[in-house]
Amino acid sequence: MAATVENNPLVIDVPAELFAPAESSSFEGTYDMGEFDFGPDHYKTVGTMQWNAFVSNVGGALLVTGSITGVVATECSRCLDEVEYDVNGELEAYLIIPGESEAPEDMDEDEFDYLPESNQLDFEPILRAAVLVDLPYVPLCAEDCKGLCPQCGANLNDGPCGCKPVEDDVVRTDSGKPSQFAALKNFKFE
Ligand SMILES: [Zn+2]
Ligand SMILES: [Zn+2]
Repeated sequence: MAATVENNPLVIDVPAELFAPAESSSFEGTYDMGEFDFGPDHYKTVGTMQWNAFVSNVGGALLVTGSITGVVATECSRCLDEVEYDVNGELEAYLIIPGESEAPEDMDEDEFDYLPESNQLDFEPILRAAVLVDLPYVPLCAEDCKGLCPQCGANLNDGPCGCKPVEDDVVRTDSGKPSQFAALKNFKFE
């Protein structure tokens, strides 16, 4: 059920009534985000995401709100085990109707967009942004994941590996991804 450009259910023709101030309309659908990268992490969509959107004319612009739920999977940043994450994203977009209003002075450039002349509303970038914003900065299988032994690579969640502790200069920090794990991530065990 791959969507084609000609018949993409994520792109709608904005109904004529939505061009009247204070009018609103609801939309819903499914979204398969496939595989994607977020920062250093590679994600896979598990199953299909569900979304609903509420589009309202706020006078010269369309305000899109709503939600998207689904499941994505990636690798734990410390132990590289697969970890699934429940997505609960919030849709948020402000689309100016060309010719009807100017860019709002109280908004930054990345807080609004323009409805294209074709009057088609593409939900895809709105859904994608809602998912990405909801993802963890550092995905972990558990808050206290022990990670991999920097010497032998054993998963320390399975128990101690027997290596002697080394001087504590490259060992895990909680602030990010130590370089030895980043290097390990380049090896795919597929
Ligand atoms: Zn882990
Ligand atoms: Zn070890």
